Amino acid sequence: MKKNLYIVRCGEVALKGMNRPYFERILLERVKKAIEEYDETEASWKDGLMFVRVPANAPEDDVISKCVRVFGVATVSPAVQAPKDINDIGRLASDFMQKIIDEEDVKTFKVRAKRADKTFPIESPEIARQVGGMVLKGCKTLEVDVHRPDVELSVDVRREAAYIYRDKVKGFGGLPLGTNGKGMILMSGGIDSPVAAFMMAKRGMSIEAVHFHSYPYTSQRAQEKVEELVKVLAGYMGSIRMHVINLLPIQEEIVKNCPEDETTLLVRRFMMRIAEKIAEKNGCMMLITGEDLGQVASQTAEALVVTDSVVTMPVMRPLIAMDKVDIMDKAREIGTYDISIQPYEDCCTVFLPKHPVTKPKLHRIEKSESVLKVDELVKAAVESEEIVTINL
Ligand code: ATP
Ligand code: MG
Repeated sequence: MKKNLYIVRCGEVALKGMNRPYFERILLERVKKAIEEYDETEASWKDGLMFVRVPANAPEDDVISKCVRVFGVATVSPAVQAPKDINDIGRLASDFMQKIIDEEDVKTFKVRAKRADKTFPIESPEIARQVGGMVLKGCKTLEVDVHRPDVELSVDVRREAAYIYRDKVKGFGGLPLGTNGKGMILMSGGIDSPVAAFMMAKRGMSIEAVHFHSYPYTSQRAQEKVEELVKVLAGYMGSIRMHVINLLPIQEEIVKNCPEDETTLLVRRFMMRIAEKIAEKNGCMMLITGEDLGQVASQTAEALVVTDSVVTMPVMRPLIAMDKVDIMDKAREIGTYDISIQPYEDCCTVFLPKHPVTKPKLHRIEKSESVLKVDELVKAAVESEEIVTINL
């Protein structure tokens, strides 16, 4: 079967010293999984590069877009392998270039050459010059532009063969999923939490989610929106389990028995407690939230201290020091923004106090909370969970 070659480069994985074989093995598995729909795909490492061979009928765009979504991948480029003979390299480079011209409006090019195999008799600048000459001969419409070429063609002469490739498509970098434990994201339908989940997963952390609603105050549609967001994330991470919990019984107790201006904070403390219990039950070692210092009343430094004090599990807040505009840009980049801005109610907005406390004191909050049967409420909420598995 005819196959097309792609070269996949890893970013930080290459820096992992003794653990490198482990990271490389997992990254290889992740890339293979991402394109498993194409039968008979082969992938292997050779001297720090991953060579992926996919049946030629697989659309190039699709293969690339799936590979660049794999965390740990720095760049991907379509490539061809050539025998280590300058005429073969020139001929294949010319064919490769012609294929590009047939599909894109390309007028200028330049060749860059690298000779890792120093036994190859021609030095790099001369390889570039000769291959450039042969491409010019083969592709009559092309001109050389060494400063701003439309396409930069690279020739890489290595021990086992020569490779010709063009522009690298950038991936997200990071580390392969599953190399850094598992975390529980508190997932709302907003802009921030999907970005927070993405950022932790990009560092190799597997993700499970918990979502709170206040049905019937919040609608079924609001939950579907959250599922749509998780589906976008599943495009990077594979299927994601989401624990869904109705927070309304707890919210009603708080509204009935506690000071109005503390409602949001008290609700958030319950969210953390419940999330921690569910995280423990499901092998998650950390909680993750989309909180961002100072963004809203419940995210002031004082409020965060008050929220954290009910759990012992570490709480990761990967967005803590980002500006909202940058979080929004990130959300656009990963494809969650347009879903997040759809206007559906969230459980946090259901009983929103008019003037929430912004500088809460822990002892006062604890006092307000002491009238509630905290353990019972948490237990009932955890027991009422529904689990949905969201696939790509
Ligand atoms: P987001 O854009 O992520 O909704 P936000 O700026 O609206 O964040 P809050 O509503 O205060 O801020 O929520 C802060 C964090 O608390 C969220 O990022 C999320 O991790 C968690 N959270 C909020 N609402 C929910 C919910 N309904 N279910 C689960 N987690 C939630
Ligand atoms: Mg929110």
